[in-house]
Amino acid sequence: LGAKEQAVVDEIEEKDIDFLRLQFTDILGTVKNVSVPATQAEKAFQEGIYFDGSSIEGFVRIQESDMRLKPDPDTFAILPWRDGRSARLICDVFDTSTGEPFAGDPRYVLKDALDRAQEMGYEVNVAPEPEFFLFEEDEDGRATTKTNDAGGYFDLAPKDLASDVRRDIIYGLEQMGFEIEASHHEVAQGQHEINFEYDDALTTADNVGTFRTVVRAIAAQHDLHATFMPKPIARINGSGMHTHISLFTEDGENAFHDEDDEFNLSGTAHSFLAGILEHAPAITAVSNPTVNSYKRLVPGYEAPVYVAWSDRNRSALIRKPAARVPAASRVEARFPDPSCNPYLACAALIHAGLEGIEKGLEAPDPVRENIYEFDEEKREEYGIETLPSNLGEALEALEEDEVIQDALGEHIYEKFVEAKTQEYDEFRVDVSQWELDRYLETF
Ligand code: GLN
Ligand code: MG
Ligand code: MG
Ligand code: MG
Repeated sequence: LGAKEQAVVDEIEEKDIDFLRLQFTDILGTVKNVSVPATQAEKAFQEGIYFDGSSIEGFVRIQESDMRLKPDPDTFAILPWRDGRSARLICDVFDTSTGEPFAGDPRYVLKDALDRAQEMGYEVNVAPEPEFFLFEEDEDGRATTKTNDAGGYFDLAPKDLASDVRRDIIYGLEQMGFEIEASHHEVAQGQHEINFEYDDALTTADNVGTFRTVVRAIAAQHDLHATFMPKPIARINGSGMHTHISLFTEDGENAFHDEDDEFNLSGTAHSFLAGILEHAPAITAVSNPTVNSYKRLVPGYEAPVYVAWSDRNRSALIRKPAARVPAASRVEARFPDPSCNPYLACAALIHAGLEGIEKGLEAPDPVRENIYEFDEEKREEYGIETLPSNLGEALEALEEDEVIQDALGEHIYEKFVEAKTQEYDEFRVDVSQWELDRYLETF
């Protein structure tokens, strides 16, 4: 065993861990586990753990169903809500027939994007801002859309009854190694945000999966249901997952910072954001991958609708947040939502940005006005495009964008489009409550 692996094995013994959850993520972003007795740790590191991948969404066909999980020792963490006797390790997935990394593993897709960045001389830092709602459960323990508080943006107790829950969630996250920067009540009733420290893109994508698991588990202990569904309630704010990105050079300089630029953004940063703007419609299929995602991307609720960037305005797709120090210069993609697969969404954003750098794309001028208030004519004058307005349109954009297809790789691209087209078709033929309310008695 390598030194890192040995350290994990020792810690498992020392802390008397009984079970290991070996985790990986399917194409839709759901965290999957294989639980093994902790005595298997050494074997898992040496040989990997074999499993049948055929029933994992978008993974493999029946005839090629054997997969091997190889735990990443850097991801060892004890699960605080399991009496401290269970721990998890995030794994890379290997194809047993070739011994190669499995092309259907989203973590591999992100690693591939990071390799491209590295070849260009960059490390990628990412910080997400996942928002979520806390809802009450009914007598049968099923989630409702009833909120247990009446708080608003940055409100404090006693209005913010959920702050106890949020505190417990933060303790849980801290016990799993998260560095929490801030947490607050969001704009909508029952809506919250917890910000954690930026990290390299792979660690951050791992963290998003962990974050969702911890938030749900601890909310459940309080008989609440935490949801990362993008728009659980119509006509109030939805939940986004703003994603802050910066590139650092090998000697630790922020490649996005330029003292002399009006926005303190370098040419590299401008090209990176131009790449994201150019590929935004296709990225949306990945970063906003549910039917419900498009109920959030409508004017008036602080979520972006138009393809533009700004140094102030929150109606834009990309914002340049104020940076206190040069190291903090970054771009904030405001369109992703927390229903996305964080590995795939990061990979798509990174490839689009790197493409912008490689092609030397130039960013348009920032838009400082509230774009929600623009009419079509004004948008045309400013050359502002609109994001896809539903999952079907986003998938069409993806089917026309080779850069984002390549970002996903052939295997995931095909499985993803297949699963999402089916999801969209199911929605399309469904008859909603809105239609019944509107038409049943009118016609
Ligand atoms: N909830 C908003 C969104 O959907 C963001 C609100 C905010 O963080 N200021 O993106
Ligand atoms: Mg925030
Ligand atoms: Mg927020
Ligand atoms: Mg933000």
